[in-house]
Amino acid sequence: MTVSETAFSIRRRTSASLAPLDLPPSGQFIGGRFVPSTSALAFDLEDPSTGRIIAKVPAGSVEDTDAAVAAAVAAKYSWGAATPKERSDALHRIAGIIEENRELLERLESANTGKPDAVAKDDISSAIDTFRFTAGAARTLTSLAAGAYAEGHTSVILREPVGVVGVITPWNYPLLMAAWKIAPILAVGNTLVLKPSEQTPLSTLKLAELIASELPAGVLNVVTGSGKVVGQRLAEHQDVDLVAITGSVGSGQKVAGTAANSVKRVHLELGGKAPVVIFGDADLQAAAEGVRSGGFWNAGQECGAACRVLVHESVAEEFTDLLVREVSSIVVGGPGTGPDTEVGPMISRAHFDRVQEALKAARRDGLRIAVGGSAVEGPGYFIEPTVVTGVPAGADIAGNEVFGPVVSVETFSTDEEAVTRANETQYGLAASVWTTNAARSMNIPRRLDFGTVWVNSHLVLASEVPWGGFKGSGYGRDLSLYALEDFSRTKHVMINHGA
Ligand code: NAD
Repeated sequence: MTVSETAFSIRRRTSASLAPLDLPPSGQFIGGRFVPSTSALAFDLEDPSTGRIIAKVPAGSVEDTDAAVAAAVAAKYSWGAATPKERSDALHRIAGIIEENRELLERLESANTGKPDAVAKDDISSAIDTFRFTAGAARTLTSLAAGAYAEGHTSVILREPVGVVGVITPWNYPLLMAAWKIAPILAVGNTLVLKPSEQTPLSTLKLAELIASELPAGVLNVVTGSGKVVGQRLAEHQDVDLVAITGSVGSGQKVAGTAANSVKRVHLELGGKAPVVIFGDADLQAAAEGVRSGGFWNAGQECGAACRVLVHESVAEEFTDLLVREVSSIVVGGPGTGPDTEVGPMISRAHFDRVQEALKAARRDGLRIAVGGSAVEGPGYFIEPTVVTGVPAGADIAGNEVFGPVVSVETFSTDEEAVTRANETQYGLAASVWTTNAARSMNIPRRLDFGTVWVNSHLVLASEVPWGGFKGSGYGRDLSLYALEDFSRTKHVMINHGA
């Protein structure tokens, strides 16, 4: 087996990433405008490609959250009564505004996350498409029009907004994850309070500033702060009717536990550890390219990342050689370093340390690092694209999210073993199957316990199809008409009109 000695060189930006005017106004976005936080505490925001502080935002309080919820409550009846066309028009206008400001939003997103330009561009394009798709979908929702099921009675089933939705988003795709929630939540007539990740709130705040005049005051509110304060308050607040979180399993468990006290609905999009099952009959070069793009996109800080390869033992060596060759040519760098830069930094010093710890543990466990495996000399929080081989069943690296540019490779000998091992995980978000056998391409996905299963592909998403998990990955659905269902409720009205 080839063991590569590649030392990754790194591209670094030479110009400043942001101008002061790029930043959103300071404060919390409540009732249609930015207002000062009641908290004097603030979070420093870092550019993880340099480690430099680029801005500060309030570490919001329970009082900020309550004020935002009150604004959302005040707006909910009129927004809920708007016609689908009116709501759809607003979403189309939002899509247009994001498009007009795409360069600014890409700059903010990459400065706050360190994303390479290609990833930031893709994020903003996908956010635009999310609003466009949802604007169309908003006008297609029907409920059961009418039915006569009891003598002298006619039943009408209405689809209604749930009311006020609390939204908690992660740092890996800040604006895109906000778009995945804001679009369907508004489309079906809810109002919302969104808490972005304390590490990456800039693009969400900027979006609120840009679209403020397109929505009635109070329909969209953004409160920055920690999960423990603002997120917790959204989960417990009596006037929040549904709480939606995209984040880690642990945070989802806490939110669901708190929400149970007020019996509010919960929408969970949690972590993942996607198995990539490669059969002996697969196109191995295509699979290696698929793992390169699907495993290292956003530096592997991706809940559906192709990070856990299970390859048939008959082709394991050939596949690993192809994968190592692919990974060795990945370009590492920060934003502003060219359209072909693929892998950026880890989001923070703490996450950088966690990924290094996972690599140290892999070495301690006697696993082989076929390529990469080290941090890149500073500044910034870069880890080399890494492939770990010789991974036995049940190894930590294959079971737990590393959430970095690290792909592990295990082998299997039978189809039965492949299915059993792939399903042996707490997560159930995404998986892929690589085969040229027609029967396998139909039969294996049915037996895999994941919300998305790709065949001969990985990490291809579209606004029309649902995204969400099973098991520890949660049970909400983003994108597609299913998201509109998740954020609405049905009501049966039965009319007694006599014989
Ligand atoms: P995280 O769980 O640390 O934080 C996510 C959000 O939850 C943040 O806004 C945080 O402030 C908030 N939060 C944390 N504790 C909370 C609490 N007790 N109460 C309320 N809110 C709380 O996750 P992260 O590190 O920002 O993001 C990475 C995780 O998100 C990974 O596990 C990844 O797989 C997952 N993710 C999942 C999807 C998906 O679609 N399923 C998409 C993106 C990210």
